Amino acid sequence: MSSDTENRCVYCNELMHPDRPYNYCTEPACYKQGFKQTEYVILGVHKSTPIICAPTDDLVSANRSYMNAK
Ligand SMILES: [Zn+2]
Repeated sequence: MSSDTENRCVYCNELMHPDRPYNYCTEPACYKQGFKQTEYVILGVHKSTPIICAPTDDLVSANRSYMNAK
């Protein structure tokens, strides 16, 4: 069984909708924590300017997995 196809909340481990672009569920407690963490996301610092996006940006959805990796 792989967790790659599952989209689980990082806080309560609840299974979420696979298309949900966040790594936390809609429970108020989780949402609050997750929202704070992803208020601004730095996608990567290259030799010059870091790429900073809002958490709703598609780029963040695609690249967020490393941000909260444990
Ligand atoms: Zn949760």
